[in-house]
Amino acid sequence: MNALPLIEAKRDGKALSERQIHSIVGAFTRHEIPDYQMAALLMAILFRGLDATETRALTVALRDSGQKLTFPNDPRPLVDKHSTGGVGDKVSLVLAPLLACLGFRVPMISGRGLGITGGTLDKLESISGYTTGLSVPHIIQQVQEIGCVICGQTDDMVPADRALYALRDVTGTVPSVPLITASILSKKFAESLNCLLLDVKFGVAAFMQTETQARELATSMVRLANECGVKTRALLTDMNVPLGRAAGNLLEVREAVECLEGRGPADLEQLVVESAAHLLMLAGKAQNIESARPAAIDTLRSRKPLAKWEQMLAAQGVDIDSYHKQVTHQFAPAIVEVRADRDGLVQHCDARLIGEVVRDLGGGRMQKESSINPLVGVDQIVKAGEPVARGTALCRLHAATTSAADVAATRVRLAFTVGDSASARVGLVTDVIV
Ligand code: URA
Repeated sequence: MNALPLIEAKRDGKALSERQIHSIVGAFTRHEIPDYQMAALLMAILFRGLDATETRALTVALRDSGQKLTFPNDPRPLVDKHSTGGVGDKVSLVLAPLLACLGFRVPMISGRGLGITGGTLDKLESISGYTTGLSVPHIIQQVQEIGCVICGQTDDMVPADRALYALRDVTGTVPSVPLITASILSKKFAESLNCLLLDVKFGVAAFMQTETQARELATSMVRLANECGVKTRALLTDMNVPLGRAAGNLLEVREAVECLEGRGPADLEQLVVESAAHLLMLAGKAQNIESARPAAIDTLRSRKPLAKWEQMLAAQGVDIDSYHKQVTHQFAPAIVEVRADRDGLVQHCDARLIGEVVRDLGGGRMQKESSINPLVGVDQIVKAGEPVARGTALCRLHAATTSAADVAATRVRLAFTVGDSASARVGLVTDVIV
């Protein structure tokens, strides 16, 4: 295939046809288009954009580049949630078993963290024995039998997106709404979903820094997914502050389990419940949000999702007795408290700074290939509006060595603002895009 006419057309602001988009994605996946030509096309797209028809064609072409999950007929709707990522976001760990208990099937294909953004797979792999690399037959069988799975993308799923994303990553072509839309939705469409909830975050620790950017991305994804037959909504959520009181892989698993036990932090529980409630409405299992929320809360409090979570862990290779011991007893070697230097009310906790500290303690990675330390991070974070006294803890640091903890403590203290009065707070969920 000759890619040059397509590159020139997009460079000159013309629309590509569906057939052209399918051809170039197919040829690129078969290694028939050199990276330099694909990179030129991506850059032309970044500047010229894609219209709705082109974005849809790209999404479908990416989805069709590999294997899709095909499930048996079943009255339980297939649903998933996708978050654009942030600091302390462990919603998926609680939501997947909750949704399974609410009568859904949840084939949750998740990703790893990069930079300050934590990844669901990294969190789960901090549990000894948890296997994220499952075969397609295993994924389907587990979803049918247990109701939920959280695992990684198989090598055969959406290979064109993997290759394209790697190229975008090194050519400055990630921040394009149509390219992000196609990349995220192609992977979700390969799960054969009936309904999808998107959590599009904005703020200092989010992929989209402003609410306006988040709204643009959310609107693009919601429109396309609904057009393609997947009932979809998006929540716009604040990522200026960490979600919950913990950031770091095993520390977040512990907090997710606390939420499943009904004693999690209020903001985490709110986002879990809100996500489940919107999926209940999308699937027609609730008439309105006022009846959907109590249904989600009651099921969460029933502790059935806690049992479902352990069932999922066991099905993915975890020895449950060892897991209980690990969650109760396994901590990083150095734990230090970061203390307030004045009395007052916590006004702010900067999620970006917390994310950077967790990453630099070894809890995140700068490169895709780097390994991570599952035990390090920050927990017991005091939330905005809560009172502190001079000398009381703002948070705890978990580090591999005492010197690493001391360095991190100096940085983390700067993440907190303590004042005489509470600051005006932005809500966690600022809008719903339907
Ligand atoms: N996440 C994805 O999966 N794709 C993008 O393009 C951006 C974020």
